[in-house]
Amino acid sequence: MTTPAPALNVENLVTELSLKRGVLRPVDDVSFHVHKRETLGIVGESGSGKSMTCLSVLRLLPKPGGRIASGKVVVAGTDLTQLTERELARDWRGSRVSMVTQDPMTSLNPVYTVGDQVGAPLVFHRIVHGARAARTRAADVLARVRIPSADKRLDDYPHQFSGGMRQRVVSAMAIACEPEVMIADEPTSNLDVTIQVKMIDLYRKIQEETGVAIVLITHDMGVAASICDRIAVMYAGRIVESGPSRSLFRAPSHPYTQALLASIPKLGRKAKRLTALGGQPPDLLDPPRGCRFAPRCPHAMPKCDAYPPDFHLGKGHRAACWLNEDAARAA
Ligand code: SF4
Repeated sequence: MTTPAPALNVENLVTELSLKRGVLRPVDDVSFHVHKRETLGIVGESGSGKSMTCLSVLRLLPKPGGRIASGKVVVAGTDLTQLTERELARDWRGSRVSMVTQDPMTSLNPVYTVGDQVGAPLVFHRIVHGARAARTRAADVLARVRIPSADKRLDDYPHQFSGGMRQRVVSAMAIACEPEVMIADEPTSNLDVTIQVKMIDLYRKIQEETGVAIVLITHDMGVAASICDRIAVMYAGRIVESGPSRSLFRAPSHPYTQALLASIPKLGRKAKRLTALGGQPPDLLDPPRGCRFAPRCPHAMPKCDAYPPDFHLGKGHRAACWLNEDAARAA
């Protein structure tokens, strides 16, 4: 039986930002994929490159200075890096690949009604024709993200919604055109815990109903554990460990992943002192030649002066750390 092609396949992606001080690579040789009905979590500290990776998928890079230097972003057999800006905006961005941002107010325009804003992508991408059809469809989509009395809220403005409801509206905009891939960048980080749980539940339901492949960016390992099928851990612009959630949480194999997990409290366990990850990520204008985590790693050794390859540990679990060399041989 042949495995279906991933909904999104990112191969060896390199993104460069030209700054006055030089050129940095916030995304440096990053590869990952996500299938239909699957959720991939990209986790890491702030500045690890996870958001820039996802902005690169849709080529929403800072201008001037940001560019995709190399690599592929393949959706439905099309390499998005090869499209013109016009083709990308017309046929892909917001329709077949959509994005939910961290702060709903950056996606919502305060002077337009919610109904107009949810309906706009439907008209732009010619999913529906005419204002009336857009309005009807917008009410359907708002109901799908569980906005109570959706048809009565179409003429309300964003400020008339609570934070959690605004995030639902943004999610409605993201799923309105029934995309194959939805990228959600820290969608729950501004919400309190009970609303977070509801949003996670909502994403699960949306995925069940539509089959959308989700890439979830988060710095919250608890959120990642609760919703993601697979996890990719990013550090200093590279993926240092990836694998099925269960395997990665049970046996984290990169010292950076271990440090991230040691820094979160565990329910039901006797309180132990949480371990803070010391030090700072490297300056990406002048990254270390070898393992980028070496300056912070308690296990660093002379061999780490060379960048470790991805060691395959079985069942899709891999880690770029020399400590895994023997385990990979045995796997
Ligand atoms: Fe630490 Fe070396 Fe592994 Fe890097 S390769 S995480 S420095 S042990």
